[in-house]
Amino acid sequence: MIDFHCHLDLYNNPLLLLPEVKRRCRFVLVVTTSPRAFLKTSQVFDGIECISVGLGLHPEILAERISERTLFLSTIPQVQYIGEIGIDGSSRNRHSLELQTDFFRDAVQASEAVGGRVLSIHSRSAVKIVLDIIEQNISKNIPVLHWFTGNEKEVDRAISLNCWFSINPMMLKNRKGVSLIQRIPIDKLIPETDGPFTSHDKTPYMPWDTQIVVEGVAKLKEMSIDAVSAAMNENTSTMLSRR
Ligand code: MN
Repeated sequence: MIDFHCHLDLYNNPLLLLPEVKRRCRFVLVVTTSPRAFLKTSQVFDGIECISVGLGLHPEILAERISERTLFLSTIPQVQYIGEIGIDGSSRNRHSLELQTDFFRDAVQASEAVGGRVLSIHSRSAVKIVLDIIEQNISKNIPVLHWFTGNEKEVDRAISLNCWFSINPMMLKNRKGVSLIQRIPIDKLIPETDGPFTSHDKTPYMPWDTQIVVEGVAKLKEMSIDAVSAAMNENTSTMLSRR
């Protein structure tokens, strides 16, 4: 299985999950919420072939971690993946919207300046600002919109900007998520869990639970499970080969 956005470092006992991750996962992008967490998490998962760790600074904690901004920017040249970054415009986080916007733009531009990076991007209640910044810095970066919740027009705009979309089991549970997935071409979809922040019956989704996404997409797009699985594997390879 592939899980393109997972907070593996934030499960209760990440190390206990490792054997199962190695057995069942082809690729897991472990996103982090701060550059300090990135440094620690990279050490823990160093040498595990199916795991890559993203350098992150989560928009929801950006204001309190702004002292790590320099560490974040100076670490970009050493990494392949950036995430989780982005902008959160929901009421709880609107107080730092300007700071978030400036930081996201800086991060995207710094990634572009070193040849482009794969970016796992949060855009809740801030789709327009996020897409504007992507549009202005698109040539080498590879943007992956994680748990996208934009409207139809915004989805179409994101597709025209060559964005990829990582989709999770929660998106299959509501009408908005379903219609969004129906609108995105199969060759732009990649599975994620966003675990442990997504769960079913109080049990967090595990990285290998992206099988649920594969099965859900197969049903929505009237494709076979094997065809969807093959398409998502190929999408991931295609995307990563463009780095
Ligand atoms: Mn996340």
